[in-house]
Parts: sequence; structure tokens; C-alpha cells
Amino acid sequence: MPRLFRRIKEIRGFIKDIKCGGNNVSVGLVPTMGYLHEGHLELIRLSKLQNDLTVVSIYVNPLQFGEGEDLDRYPRDLDRDLALCEEAGVDVVFAPDDEEMYPEHPNVKIEIPGLTDRLEGVYRPGHFNGVAIVVLKLFNIVQPNKAYFGEKDYQQLKVVERLVKDLAIPVETIPVPTVREEDGLACSSRNVYLSPEERQSASSIYRSFLLAQKLFQSGNTDAETLKQAIREFLLKHPHVRKIDYVEITDENLNPVNEVKEGDRILVAVFVGNTRLIDNWRISHEKV
Ligand code: AMP
Repeated sequence: MPRLFRRIKEIRGFIKDIKCGGNNVSVGLVPTMGYLHEGHLELIRLSKLQNDLTVVSIYVNPLQFGEGEDLDRYPRDLDRDLALCEEAGVDVVFAPDDEEMYPEHPNVKIEIPGLTDRLEGVYRPGHFNGVAIVVLKLFNIVQPNKAYFGEKDYQQLKVVERLVKDLAIPVETIPVPTVREEDGLACSSRNVYLSPEERQSASSIYRSFLLAQKLFQSGNTDAETLKQAIREFLLKHPHVRKIDYVEITDENLNPVNEVKEGDRILVAVFVGNTRLIDNWRISHEKV
């Protein structure tokens, strides 16, 4: 079983002792909100490959949820997560409660104009402020050498990379490609919300990426045309209820008019009442 810590002081002490041992132990951190799936396990596998000690944090961070979002019903099952962590060979799990993480509501605000106020930031105001606070706090608690983030949450990855750069935080962020189910749906803890019928429609997100990529590969580089094709394709599917956005940007999330290799498609879509996000790197490769 991994060592389970619920208190900041205790995990700090543990990490300090390990680092003081003088063996130059490298620590990898995998921040999660739990209800682990193959995507999380991929991050863990990479951390295990690259570090002596792997710490997984499991914390459903209320700061990154807006009013009317799914904070209360977000799936939680610590015993299941611990069993998966054990199987994956995780060394340490840090699972604080709200009182431990935020004894007082943090008053600091973190914004990166041009980054946190776009895409997800438009539809989930305050979301990246919450993400940034929890990630920085976890970095300060665990003091990892490397930290692992999924490309599934591409904008989050860019926000963290920018924080690390702007504030000279001594942590190397490692991006991990999106892990998908057999039909292409990106693994997500929120997929459990989907009914079987919705689950079927949800795979249209992946198929819309392939459609856009095909258009690109046949010479169509107009972003608006690709975005329109994605929108139309998605809305053909019965449970795809609403599209928050379909955007095409360069790798730094700046919108583009002409699409080139390496650009990203980013979407946020409601399938039934479940809001799913996903993204895709456009390339000439055959899929
Ligand atoms: P979450 O528990 O949803 O906050 O995710 C924790 C970490 O796992 C984040 O860095 C996510 O980007 C990453 N992650 C979530 N789903 C996937 C996936 N399907 N493939 C790769 N990484 C993922």
C-alpha cells in the first residue's frame, strides 16, 4: 500500500526526511482529483519511470468549481483510488480535506491575461485561479522535481507551464498525451455521468477531430471551415445538447485563421448534462 498522508505537516516531514537522506532522491508529483482512470495511470507510470519516489495527490479542489457546477456530485472513492495506486506502485498518496487545504479561503488571485481569461476561462470564470492556487500550493507542500499534467486539459497545462516560467518555480512540468477509450473518447472521471446512449454520442468528439484532420490533410486550411465542420458533425448526434466552444489555436492557444501542423482544436461540449472538454493536435499523420 502507498503511504497515505492527510496532513500537510506530515507529508512535508516525510519528504524532508527522504531528501535529507542525502541520496538525491527525485520526487515526481501527479496532482489529481481522484476517481482514477487510465489517463491518471499513464501520468503515474511516467512519474515512476522518471523519479525515485512518486506522490499522487487526490483532492477535489472546490476553488476550481463555479456555482452550479458539479462539485457536490463529483465522483469520489478513496479506497478504490488507493487500490489502483497500490497496483500502479505509487509510493505516497496525499489526500487532504478542505479544512487542511484551505483553513481560510485563500484571498490571493492568480490571472494570466490572454491565457486564463480565454476558452475555459470564459465559460468557467475563476476556474484557473482555483487551479493555479491548488497547483502552487501542492508544489510548495511536496516540492517535487517533476510534476505531470495531461494534455487532456491542454489549457490547464499551458497555465501551469506559464506559472512555472514566470515565477521561476523549480519544478519541471511534464506533459502527457491524452489517453483515450477504444472508441476515442478521452478518459475522464466525469465519463461516469454519461448514460449508455450519451456515452455513444460522446465519441463524436473524437470523430469530429478526425474529420477536421482529414479536411486539413486534403488541403483545407481555413480554420472557420474546419470549426464549422466540427460543429455540424457534433450537433448531428442525439445527445450533444450544446457547444460552449470549438476553437483552433496555435500551440500557445492564440487563435489562428490559417491552420498548420501542430495547431490545436479545442472543444467544450455538453453531452446530456455532462460538460466534456477535449483537444487535438492537428497533423499530417494518418490516424
Ligand atoms: P483530474 O483528476 O481530472 O484533475 O486530472 C488529473 C490529471 O490527469 C490532469 O493533469 C489531467 O490533465 C490528467 N488527465 C485527465 N484525463 C486524462 C487523459 N484522458 N489522458 C491523460 N491525462 C489525463
